[in-house]
Amino acid sequence: MERFDVVVKNGIVLTMDDEMRVLSPGNVGISGSEIRYVGRDEVKGDEEIDASGCVVMPGLVNAHTHSPMTLFRNAVEDQPLEKWLKEYVWPVEATLKPEHVRIGAELAAAEMALAGVTCFNDMYFFMDQVAEAAVEVGIRGVLSEGLVELFSDRASEEVLKKGVSFAEEYHGWRGMIWAMLGPHAEYSCSLEFLSKVREEADRLGVGIHMHLAEVKPPVDEFVKKHGKSPLKALDEIGFLKRDVVFAHMIYLDDEDLKLVKERDVAVAYNPVSNMKLASGMARIDEMLKLGIRVGLGTDGPGSNNTLDLLQDMKFAALLQKLRYLDARSLPAKSVVRMATRGGAEALNLDHLIGSIEVGKKADLIVVDARKPRYQPIRDPYTALAYCSSGSDVRDVIVDGRIIVRNGEIQTIDLEETMQKFRDAVADLFG
Ligand SMILES: [Zn+2]
Repeated sequence: MERFDVVVKNGIVLTMDDEMRVLSPGNVGISGSEIRYVGRDEVKGDEEIDASGCVVMPGLVNAHTHSPMTLFRNAVEDQPLEKWLKEYVWPVEATLKPEHVRIGAELAAAEMALAGVTCFNDMYFFMDQVAEAAVEVGIRGVLSEGLVELFSDRASEEVLKKGVSFAEEYHGWRGMIWAMLGPHAEYSCSLEFLSKVREEADRLGVGIHMHLAEVKPPVDEFVKKHGKSPLKALDEIGFLKRDVVFAHMIYLDDEDLKLVKERDVAVAYNPVSNMKLASGMARIDEMLKLGIRVGLGTDGPGSNNTLDLLQDMKFAALLQKLRYLDARSLPAKSVVRMATRGGAEALNLDHLIGSIEVGKKADLIVVDARKPRYQPIRDPYTALAYCSSGSDVRDVIVDGRIIVRNGEIQTIDLEETMQKFRDAVADLFG
């Protein structure tokens, strides 16, 4: 019998493979950073995790966030997006130092790891600091410098250069970090700038992460100015390719939706942020039916306020039911898939992560479904989609390394991180 480094035994294993196989009970064998066995045979390992009564699933992929915005958590509440950004967030962000970002990102990475997120797609400033924090905590990051061209006092070339230099330095860093270019949004970047972003992304071989069609007024303004939707304008400059992930995509017409499918761009759906900022309801159920790649995101903790993707699955499903006034919209199984493999697909990382299959990276989590709130587990997808919370995550393995064990983070001193974080918040907000 082959002996593995780590085995996870006797769990309800949601593989998220092409057949969506569920092994109950099932065993997973891990050696090095890879999954080497998935099945029902008895397995032995140097380290054994007994997952009896628990769900074993691929690590969650947070498809859109701004992790250092933990610093802004609970600071400004119940304000519309434009006012929230211009009057509250941007002025404080102007005073941010790298060390603030470092500790904000470290708290976020710890929070995500403890809630079962093993990979996150992040856009912010000082992303080298975010990369350091992610690697220290032990989770994967797809990171982009947020490029706000139009409201910046720096020249466009300089703004772009910042994103490009980060990507050049960090793409592939330590096998845990991938870089993208992150033009902020259609209202904060000109088409000319976006066209340069596309050129640079092609040259570097990295993807593009951007907000699009999140709220109605800027989309209306764009149409008034350019005579076409932002998506169509982006198509005309050759921007739309498979390596693009757009956050939100709420204000799309039927032609836009077709274009998303044809150009095979991906979407990050952020239901909690969309509800909290009263932005709107994206047409996610239709996107899935068209075969568009959709991942689930929390968005930044300033507008969520947590990074609890497991819990957000419920909002994701419920908001679609309300959107279409159809209880069949975005069913449980689809939303669990969206939070795992769907996110990996949206980020073009599904050849490595997003499912529990032999040869994939060993990123998986154990959710303690023995708790009363899950009883009785008739269908594990339903139990996860509608009954779960990030605090039910018991063990987390990333790249074959156990980073959370029995609900405790193994890689950092959490008390120390939280103290430093509180000090940084006090320093920022005075
Ligand atoms: Zn966002």
